[in-house]
Amino acid sequence: MNIQNYKNVIIGSGEGGKYLAWHLAQSGQPTVVVERRWVGGSCPNVNCLPSKNEIWSAKVADLLHHASRFGVAPASATSDMSAVRKRKREMVEGLIAVHLDRYKASGAELVMGEAKFIGPKTLDVRLNHGGARTLTGARTLTGERIFLNLGTHASIPSVPGLAESEPLTNIELLELDRLPEHLIVLGGGHVGLEFAQAYRRFGSRVTILEQGPQLLANQDPDVVAALLQIFTTEGIDVIAPAKILSVHGRSGTNVTLAVQTSSGEKTITGSDILVATGRTPNTAGIGLEVAGVELDQRGYVRVSDRLQTTAPNVWAIGECAGSPQFTHISLDDFRVIRDNLAGMNRTTRGRMIPSCLFTDPQLAHIGLTETEAARQGIAVRVVKLPMAAVLRTRTIDETRGFMKALIEPDGDRILGFTMVGPEAGEVMAVVQMAMLAGLPYSALRDAILTHPTMAEGLNALFSNVKPANAGAASSARTG
Ligand SMILES: Cc1cc2nc3c(=O)[nH]c(=O)nc-3n(C[C@H](O)[C@H](O)[C@H](O)COP(=O)(O)OP(=O)(O)OC[C@H]3O[C@@H](n4cnc5c(N)ncnc54)[C@H](O)[C@@H]3O)c2cc1C
Repeated sequence: MNIQNYKNVIIGSGEGGKYLAWHLAQSGQPTVVVERRWVGGSCPNVNCLPSKNEIWSAKVADLLHHASRFGVAPASATSDMSAVRKRKREMVEGLIAVHLDRYKASGAELVMGEAKFIGPKTLDVRLNHGGARTLTGARTLTGERIFLNLGTHASIPSVPGLAESEPLTNIELLELDRLPEHLIVLGGGHVGLEFAQAYRRFGSRVTILEQGPQLLANQDPDVVAALLQIFTTEGIDVIAPAKILSVHGRSGTNVTLAVQTSSGEKTITGSDILVATGRTPNTAGIGLEVAGVELDQRGYVRVSDRLQTTAPNVWAIGECAGSPQFTHISLDDFRVIRDNLAGMNRTTRGRMIPSCLFTDPQLAHIGLTETEAARQGIAVRVVKLPMAAVLRTRTIDETRGFMKALIEPDGDRILGFTMVGPEAGEVMAVVQMAMLAGLPYSALRDAILTHPTMAEGLNALFSNVKPANAGAASSARTG
């Protein structure tokens, strides 16, 4: 048997896995990454970056539709989905090239194939040929240390007729070269909402069916209401709660869904279904039991707060380890492992987890929500500022949304921040830095911030904080 031994074997070339590979290889350790499909993982190939690429095309369509509002000659905008896809594909190809260069420069070996454990530290790799999916042979690898960065895939709920209808996931939707006439989006979370708005802007009719009582289960009701208003104004139908009872027909032609809603049973007919109802870890069928790696009840790899699995010298990174499902968290998992391998003591406990929903305008959040504060019995002072009070929004004609901050009642620490508004992800990062540095809210209230920017709104927002024992301070600027 042709066995090759490495110091480090990494399965999956996701965010954390690839950075770990580059880091370990650069420090002179023989390191191999086995990747079955996507050089660089799902983020640059089929998730974050391709979706934001097409969302930007949808933003251009939206601007064109409303061009006359900005004093620009009105244009009739039609979306050419094969051109949208071409732009996306070109970006992905460029990103893959960047990754291949990084592999080469670091000295980490990249093997394209599917890895399966045949012993505790021994893997059988069914090689792809030239990156294609034809299997041409097998190769056996052993590693002193193994790192699992396996990722997840879209879950298909077990509803009668749904799997048979061949619904789209994000992967197929991003590859369509036609515009769905009526896209039915199952799931009102990040993935569903971003695609719903983008496809509405491209010209599809869009209906979102969310099984819970509101979109974005973890967000405060006022935040969800602001987003819902933006969606309904754009002509997106939202039904929540909606329990799918059965599906008939085939996605891509004609599908009919029987749906239980709060006002009774409804029949909804559309052309395509997008499933965005959550993720399933890629942990089945790859011999993890042979490796001594235990899974939890949902199939995620059981890990310690240092990302060690139940098998000695085997770690897990990113979504397969049950970490919050963001690329920046997979990256931080890499840092935790890197630092612990170097003898430091770093854990995943107490991480501040920022998020940004790339709707237009965006919804960004860090720290506590009001709902979570109430649930935990944490007292907070809440301040809000409508985005219309931030003068930058007047210049771009996008005044929807608000900023909201939670401050501790007796001190001056910022406990949470949420914004629905333009560039929310960038503005949130400013607040995040203040939180990380342990700055008082007054630092953002009194900072000299560039005029006119969205971040400047933080001056006004934090001016509205009522001092612990005094009345309210000033409000927004007028010029
Ligand atoms: C549509 C969509 C949009 C998203 N947008 C954002 C966003 O804007 N921002 C954000 O932070 N997050 C976003 N996410 C989430 C984000 O993509 C993931 O959290 C992130 O990519 C981290 O993934 P990972 O490192 O856990 O694994 P992945 O990047 O998924 O990597 C796992 C890799 O392992 C490979 N693999 C699995 N099993 C094997 C095996 N047995 N052998 C060999 N290879 C194997 C897979 O092919 C895959 O390439 C989005 C997700 C979706 C679905």
